Amino acid sequence: MSRYLVVLSLDALGAEDLEDLSELDALAELMEKGVHIKQVESIYPSLTYPAHTSIITGHYPKTHGIVNNTKIEPGKASPDWFWFKKSIRVPTLYDKAKEAGLKTAAFLWPVAAKSGIDHNIAEIFPNRFWLNQVMVSLWGSSPRFLLEMNKKYGHLRKGIHQPELDHFLTEAVIDTILHKQPELLLAHFVDMDSMRHAYGVRSKEAKAALKRHNTRVRRIVEATKEAGIYQDTTFVILGDHYQIDVDTAIRLNVRLQELGYIKTNQNGEVVSWQAYAKSADGSSYIYCEDTAIRQILQQELRKVEGVERILIQPEIAEKGADPAACLMVEGKPGYFFMEQLNGPLVEKVSPEKVGEPDYYKAVHGYDPKKENYQTTLVIAGPEIKQQTVFEKARLIDEGPTFARILGLELPETEGRVLEEIFITQ
Ligand SMILES: [Zn+2]
Repeated sequence: MSRYLVVLSLDALGAEDLEDLSELDALAELMEKGVHIKQVESIYPSLTYPAHTSIITGHYPKTHGIVNNTKIEPGKASPDWFWFKKSIRVPTLYDKAKEAGLKTAAFLWPVAAKSGIDHNIAEIFPNRFWLNQVMVSLWGSSPRFLLEMNKKYGHLRKGIHQPELDHFLTEAVIDTILHKQPELLLAHFVDMDSMRHAYGVRSKEAKAALKRHNTRVRRIVEATKEAGIYQDTTFVILGDHYQIDVDTAIRLNVRLQELGYIKTNQNGEVVSWQAYAKSADGSSYIYCEDTAIRQILQQELRKVEGVERILIQPEIAEKGADPAACLMVEGKPGYFFMEQLNGPLVEKVSPEKVGEPDYYKAVHGYDPKKENYQTTLVIAGPEIKQQTVFEKARLIDEGPTFARILGLELPETEGRVLEEIFITQ
């Protein structure tokens, strides 16, 4: 058992990122001190909110309930995200930690707003014009803690802009380790994911973000030394998914509207629908009012440029995705899905467009089995083997393994405890 567990999620960290460690000394040191599992398979759709929920529950999205980043709200330009913990249907690692009387802290960990975590800065942003960031953050977080961190380090951030947000987060994590010493600490850093979306997977901006992450990791490890808890701490560095470069957008709802399955009024607002494409970026769910239209939809959507594959039930659920979906459309590498009803069905993304809402240079959300698309995992701590490399694991194995590290248990998970990483098996 380890007394403390520090989980640092570097959003969009790929297996490929740890192949060259020449400029990543802090990550290299943890790999040297512990275990590196090279290839970790994400979940389907490989999006941040479903993935982070799989990480702390050990279950697939179909079971834990977070089947997408955002909710089904047809026609809405900015649908609500699954911010709140109440949407998770199974026990989480932090629930179990709290039950055991451990102190918990979370820093922009997805789907953890109003979660009961002792020290919580929730990832939630205003999505209604009458709300503002301070209000929603205070509402979803632990208010005193957030106010304290904002007072000390708020000057470092510029809203949710990167890399400033992760600079702020790093100071908040370090401060919390020094002064509060939570037994379970979960932190989610988005710097590199943002850079990949805006500049591409292997861009110099993404590389610079990875180097910044390395510095953040080094400083957080140093903080545990300063706090005198280093020897009793297990460190986890993980990714939730990788990304794939894209240059073409597909709007399946444009086709569904042409086919008469979506009806809009004069203002272009959705008034009714029989079939609706709910984007997951690299893939897209299709929800149907009546499954009788499934076959015709399948035939029609197969003809769309950039569609790699169309899954039906029970295959969708077998892959761990939403059992309520009628179809799931997988994009070819280079293609991604937009939810909009207006615009061309297929659009080459011009460089000027990148940076506008929904226009990206790279995305995720694809089938986690896609080629060169794996994430990775590093674990180092008192009970973990040293200088050991394993080839494969799954994201759903992480939750039960983290529970074991703290002497806890997540019962009946779809993932398994990675017994092979522990010194005493
Ligand atoms: Zn992510």
